Amino acid sequence: MPFQAGYKALLEQEAHRLYGLLGSVTRDNGEKYTAPDCLQIAPYTLAVNQIKKEQNAIILAHSYTLPELALGVADFSGDSYALSAKAQEVKEEKIIFAGVWFMAETAKILNPAKEVIIPAGKAGCTLADAITADEVKNLKKQYPGVPVLCYINSSAAVKAQSDICVTSSNVFDIAQRLPEKELIFVPDLLMAKNLENELVRRGTPKKIISAGGSCYVHKQYSAHQVADLRRRYPGIEVLCHPECLPDVCAVCDYVGSTKGMQEYVARSDKKLFALLTEHGLVNRLESAHADKTFIWPFGVCDYMKQNTLQNTLQALVAPMPAQKVILSEDVITQAKKSIQNMFEWTR
Ligand code: SF4
Repeated sequence: MPFQAGYKALLEQEAHRLYGLLGSVTRDNGEKYTAPDCLQIAPYTLAVNQIKKEQNAIILAHSYTLPELALGVADFSGDSYALSAKAQEVKEEKIIFAGVWFMAETAKILNPAKEVIIPAGKAGCTLADAITADEVKNLKKQYPGVPVLCYINSSAAVKAQSDICVTSSNVFDIAQRLPEKELIFVPDLLMAKNLENELVRRGTPKKIISAGGSCYVHKQYSAHQVADLRRRYPGIEVLCHPECLPDVCAVCDYVGSTKGMQEYVARSDKKLFALLTEHGLVNRLESAHADKTFIWPFGVCDYMKQNTLQNTLQALVAPMPAQKVILSEDVITQAKKSIQNMFEWTR
């Protein structure tokens, strides 16, 4: 039938486009995307891309989401800071946010009048879930007058209790620029220690008071693993995220945010890298730098991977209540101040 023949040609064209983007990318099971994989994915990417246009929707995806989402249908993909900056400029009526719950909340705080939908529903995060707004209130009582910095990986309610929201791309600079010698930083205990160490290294030591937990993906790496990588792959560049343990950061060639690591790899003339972070970032780099090799092990965030092409399509067509981000006006107003303060202090 002519219709079927036309659709088949469209699918093949889409599969070809996807293979161009995904052919050099390793899946979480260690295998590369194949041409038949791309043909299987094509009906979903075609449908999502068509429906999002019809609905005047934009898809924002965190770098840790599945490659077929971040590369196949997202209008913009990046780290937490880049996504919040992008969320400020959104013109479309609807935001589909492929990430975890606190990130979709951030998009809602910045766009209260727009519909914000997260395909993965209430996907958690071991950091964002490590502290409550009441615990932050108690810290403020215990340390009156000490500014509260909250890592962007925190709930909207925690942001509402904080003075400045920060991300891994700006936390060191903002903490350094603040005039106070004591700062509260929640909810990443490891990043708090890395922040304290970095401020000493910069010659501006400060006391960092912290509470919360850690990221289960980044906490798993060890200094021993770095030594082993260097022994097995002489000349390898080892990069890590500041959510890693301080003794891991101490032995890596570069410590920085997702964006920082992407820029480091792009400007490096080296060909062999190990990135002690989430696998999704490695996928982005494999797609952008087919001439460079990235060595396992990579961590995989199960929360991020709860976003799929299938639930993105379903969320576009018939979102369920658990996928819609709803926040009170009070929380939005208060939390927005901490995010706007971040943009101010980053300029
Ligand atoms: S990688 Fe870690 S910090 Fe990021 S969403 Fe997953 S658990 Fe949270």
